[in-house]
Amino acid sequence: MTLFERVFNGNDAVYGLTVQAVDAAIAQYGEEKAISFPDTAYCLPCYYAVTGVKVTNLKELKEAVGVVKTLMTRAPRLNDAFMSGVATALCAEFIEALKYIDGAKPYDAPLYGHLGDAVIRELGVPLVTGDIPGVAVILGSAPSVEEGVALVKSYQAQGILVTLVGGICDQVAEAGMNTGANVRVIPLGKDVTSVIHVVSVALRAALIFGNIKPGDAAALMEYTFKRVPAFVNAFAPLDDVIVACGAGAIALGFPVITNETENIFRVPKSLIVQEDVSKFNATSLEARDIKIKITKIDIPVAFASAFEGEIIRRKEMQVEFDGSRVDCAELVQTREMSEIEDHKITIVGPDVDEMELGSKNSIAYVVEVAGKAMQPDFEPVIERKFHNYINCIEGVYHTGQRDMQRIRIGIPAYNAGFRLKHIGEVLYASVKNEFEAVVDKCQVTIYTDPAECTRIRHEVAIPTFNKRDDRLRTLTDESVDVYYSCILCQAFSPSHVCVVTPERLGLCGAVSWLDAKATNELDPNGPCQVITKERPIDERIGEYEDVNEAVRKFSQGALEDVSLYSIMEKPMTSCGCFECICGIEPFSNGVCIANREYAGMTPLGMTFPELASMTGGGVQTPGFMGHGKHFIASKKFMKAEGGIERIVWMPKELKEVVAERLNETAKELYGIENFTDMIGDETIATDPETLVEFLTEKGHPALGMDPMM
Ligand code: SF4
Ligand code: ZN
Repeated sequence: MTLFERVFNGNDAVYGLTVQAVDAAIAQYGEEKAISFPDTAYCLPCYYAVTGVKVTNLKELKEAVGVVKTLMTRAPRLNDAFMSGVATALCAEFIEALKYIDGAKPYDAPLYGHLGDAVIRELGVPLVTGDIPGVAVILGSAPSVEEGVALVKSYQAQGILVTLVGGICDQVAEAGMNTGANVRVIPLGKDVTSVIHVVSVALRAALIFGNIKPGDAAALMEYTFKRVPAFVNAFAPLDDVIVACGAGAIALGFPVITNETENIFRVPKSLIVQEDVSKFNATSLEARDIKIKITKIDIPVAFASAFEGEIIRRKEMQVEFDGSRVDCAELVQTREMSEIEDHKITIVGPDVDEMELGSKNSIAYVVEVAGKAMQPDFEPVIERKFHNYINCIEGVYHTGQRDMQRIRIGIPAYNAGFRLKHIGEVLYASVKNEFEAVVDKCQVTIYTDPAECTRIRHEVAIPTFNKRDDRLRTLTDESVDVYYSCILCQAFSPSHVCVVTPERLGLCGAVSWLDAKATNELDPNGPCQVITKERPIDERIGEYEDVNEAVRKFSQGALEDVSLYSIMEKPMTSCGCFECICGIEPFSNGVCIANREYAGMTPLGMTFPELASMTGGGVQTPGFMGHGKHFIASKKFMKAEGGIERIVWMPKELKEVVAERLNETAKELYGIENFTDMIGDETIATDPETLVEFLTEKGHPALGMDPMM
């Protein structure tokens, strides 16, 4: 049988199943029955992306099946095979969508099934920074459990996001491997149709970040080919359905690597036979042109970004360090070149093997750095990375910062020989690696002696933090001479530019003005460029000729002009990875804000994913704006429209995060005490009428302000 025939057969088989499943559902529920995946604004995302049509009920689904049939042409040509591959994928999406009918939860942990829009937005920054260098889709059963697990672990150690479909899900479970989005190994499902859940991520990325118009199939495929670094590993034996799915993957630009040797037709760079499963990793990276940044660190456990989200529970820990209970600190200090010795690691106090199993201890580590281009302003930038560095250690967990960090060392890591000096090695190597342009020498001292920890915390760390906070308070948009651009997200959102100012951080929440300044210093031709602010056009909305010129240049002409402080006039664009989105609420003259973690409804009648779908892709959308959490308490938040007094609603959890700073700003600007008490949340109202009642009762200032539109 030719490869074409196999694709067509596989497609016919899945199509037949789809028709049956849709008819059966209609017989059971009737044509009007609603259908959708949870936590997405894109209905059936793949079908919507390819055709531009939103399927919302079974009747429309039946029509969609008819449309898919038209893709199933049968000439033995490459294009027909690709279209049949796409048709197979769409049928898979229909079958999977039917599993969710009537609010069903078809997947049980550890299987994921459908992934919500928020997951995709969260992936934005790690994908653009190369922290997640690629996405692997592993299909079928490996020749043995050991080989399957070894392959998955090889990708995990490189930070690659791994999705699993079919027998491999059972294989990793059998080996007792820890899986989940937090360790970047996501078992999707056991049926081959569950592969659509990763395809759906790729296609929604095009809609969310790429501003691809739904229905523009050619642009969609160009986007996934150029910008989504995914590939498929399919284990032999391949049945025709898998071959048909593979054709769909190749149509999207994702190469397929297989150990099948029978009846297979090799397509250079697209369908590659690699008989040796242990070489799947190398072959895949080469085929998709993925480069891995290697940080070689001399420690007895693995070090990879995939371990960043790993959690260590109390009963799994050897020892713990806890800044909320005993004196702890983490600190970077700038020194003269002559004052320190490069790569010197000193331990002052007992090591882990001298601590009791399960005990709580003090720890303070001081990283001293020196370099000609080093500035004290970079200290907090480096320090904040410690969280990531220590978390990337397999079997070690870190939360918090400054003098409130908590570290747990797991029993397996301890048994593998992990000791305090390895924390020193990790800090040393990571700082030198990431900040090589400013750090020439780096020395680490780790204190566990309780008296020394108390001294470091109170006499060195806290005074340093206080000094830095004072400096941050004086850092206003007016007090600096330059702003910075950030175009990191252009990898996914080709025309998006963030303008980062002291009082407005990047919308991802990860790039403050100091971060951007350090990034510029580290890599002068990199993503962050200096923008002067010498030619103001309109101070009210924060528009500058210099900023406009920069934005025009960095967006390659896609953007004309932006304001820094308005949501209505020339607002800044969004890429898609924003922490929060705010949208205007016409009944109260205010705005509602929702954060990515919030799953419920807002008084705007939209959930976070739905609100988020209103903006993105690097275009300006007056009335909606993506932003970082910290921007909420800024004096520049929507300053043109009246500022933070416009905020009428946000989720309770977000309110708690921003309360202290937001209340401070409200008091300073408007003399309002406890402003957050006037702001609604989901426990108070999720519809505009109840919200306005609440605001009226509280005398919320937005009610008396001019309408925004
Ligand atoms: Fe992306 Fe803007 Fe964050 Fe830069 S600051 S990473 S462009 S969202
Ligand atoms: Zn982004």
